[in-house]
Amino acid sequence: MAVTPGLEHSRKAFGWAARDTSGVLSPFNFTRRETGDKDVAIKVLFCGICHTDLHNAKSEWGQSFYPLVPGHEIAGEVIEVGSKVEKFKVGEKVGVGCMVQSCRSCGNCSDNLENFCSKLVLTYGSKDIDGSITQGGYSDMVVVDEHFVISIPDGLPLEAAAPLLCAGITVYSPLLYFGLAKPDLHVGVVGLGGVGHMAVKFAKAFGAKVTVISTSPNKKKEAIEHLGADSFLISRNQDEMEAAKGTLDGIIDTVSAVHPLLPLINLLKSQGKIVIVGLPDKPLELPIFPLLDRKSVAGSCIGGIKETQEMINYAAKYDIKPDIEIIPIDYVNTAMERLLKSDVKYRFVIDIGNTLKSSS
Ligand SMILES: [Zn+2]
Ligand SMILES: [Zn+2]
Repeated sequence: MAVTPGLEHSRKAFGWAARDTSGVLSPFNFTRRETGDKDVAIKVLFCGICHTDLHNAKSEWGQSFYPLVPGHEIAGEVIEVGSKVEKFKVGEKVGVGCMVQSCRSCGNCSDNLENFCSKLVLTYGSKDIDGSITQGGYSDMVVVDEHFVISIPDGLPLEAAAPLLCAGITVYSPLLYFGLAKPDLHVGVVGLGGVGHMAVKFAKAFGAKVTVISTSPNKKKEAIEHLGADSFLISRNQDEMEAAKGTLDGIIDTVSAVHPLLPLINLLKSQGKIVIVGLPDKPLELPIFPLLDRKSVAGSCIGGIKETQEMINYAAKYDIKPDIEIIPIDYVNTAMERLLKSDVKYRFVIDIGNTLKSSS
């Protein structure tokens, strides 16, 4: 028997959901599971708006389950813990990122790479181990296995922590894994949105020289004066791109639209690496000859739970925070429209705690 997504459980919850491919969000009464032995119940206080939320609300990446409550940049406070929970206590500040469960036994899970587990359960719109469909953080509370809950250190404001849980780890993890988190390297960042601006901040914190590569000349002043980038390349300016050939040790490419890779490959030194973290919906063309001096093109997707905790601790220690625009929940549809036009510096964060009010 089919059960409507969001109504499989007994515990009342409230949020905003998309109902169809229009992606328009509206108030939604739904249910969550009771707090299990290893579960942490969290009152959501802030939730970032990721570009993924927009795609999923409109079912642009394969069939979404409706009603769909988006949100995987969740920050809040523990309100209840199960009897076997060891890591958290009521009242603690915590976060939840893109995933809420995995098999916990495969090679990837054993290596703290739950993000690559084939049985990964995403924070929303994903089939959970009990068969119910997960619902995200545009809601009053979530119930999550403690393994997938991140502790947020004092000193890191919750509204700043929220976007780090997706946008932050998306760039932190590949910078480390691909050896780009070292002083004196020269790192390029392609695209200056929610993810790109975090790449600039983390790469600078790791001591790199950072060049932003963008199609928009009007982002230059902001990138250099505000975000602390060292230089800026307009990707459509042939002379600038030519002059910068062979200068970068690595590139974090955050662009989600189809774009040519060759100009970026040409910017790399020999043995340099392009790491793609944006998700264009069509394949990119990959020229091989320019790769033969051992250049690589790789992909990366968020990070494991252990590394996500390390990232949050690092951000707290070195005061790395996203630039955010805090909005009330009833602004969320306008925010989605603005996000589509890249009209945000650089992440919307919904003030769930103060603005989400159940009508019932
Ligand atoms: Zn995300
Ligand atoms: Zn696994």
